[in-house]
Amino acid sequence: MLDVLVFSPHPDDAELGAGGSIYKATKNGLKVGIIDLTAGEMGSLGSIEIRLQEAEKAKNVLNVEFRENLEFPDGFLSFLDEKAVFTVAKKIREFEPKIVLIPYWEDRHPDHIAASNIVTKAIHYSKLKKMDFEHPHHTVDNVLYYEINGQFTPSFIMDISEEFPIKQKAIMSFQSQFKEFSKEYLPFPLIERCKYYGSLISSDYGEAFLMKNPFKLKDWQILF
Ligand SMILES: [Zn+2]
Repeated sequence: MLDVLVFSPHPDDAELGAGGSIYKATKNGLKVGIIDLTAGEMGSLGSIEIRLQEAEKAKNVLNVEFRENLEFPDGFLSFLDEKAVFTVAKKIREFEPKIVLIPYWEDRHPDHIAASNIVTKAIHYSKLKKMDFEHPHHTVDNVLYYEINGQFTPSFIMDISEEFPIKQKAIMSFQSQFKEFSKEYLPFPLIERCKYYGSLISSDYGEAFLMKNPFKLKDWQILF
């Protein structure tokens, strides 16, 4: 049983959109795993080997329990690819996460859109009793969408002020992708986006999440 399972279209997307929140989870003792859908082999920068090494490095920075790569074809992800959907559904059943993080479905990169739809569909299949996969059916408690390029009006914003330096470090593990930036500093728009979301909750830095369902409050406590 896993607390949080994060799906990332390419190695580095999870860190870009939710690195601070992932670190906040592991820091608080939650069990977190990351599954990359592709190795990013179509990217102009870096080779498969380098990107996998970088992903491993970022995994260690964030203290994540495990990171897998499904090696789906980079640049050709499709939610009509039944095999890909079933592979993801099997992973969800295998790890039984309570919370799943998925990229937002609107984005300029077609792989990010496809990844969002593949995982959303897989979550649906993983709970269907009549779908016969290797593992018993599993229902995810909460599905949270995170931003890569596209933006939404958040359902909530995670305060990552304390975790922001580790988010930076995790992203800078992907040196082949962010060559032109120094080891200490993230690309400017990323910093500004985290600052913007932080400003909306009167904090220094934040990460935005979107839920399709209204957030369920079991009592008043969480609001104090
Ligand atoms: Zn990507």
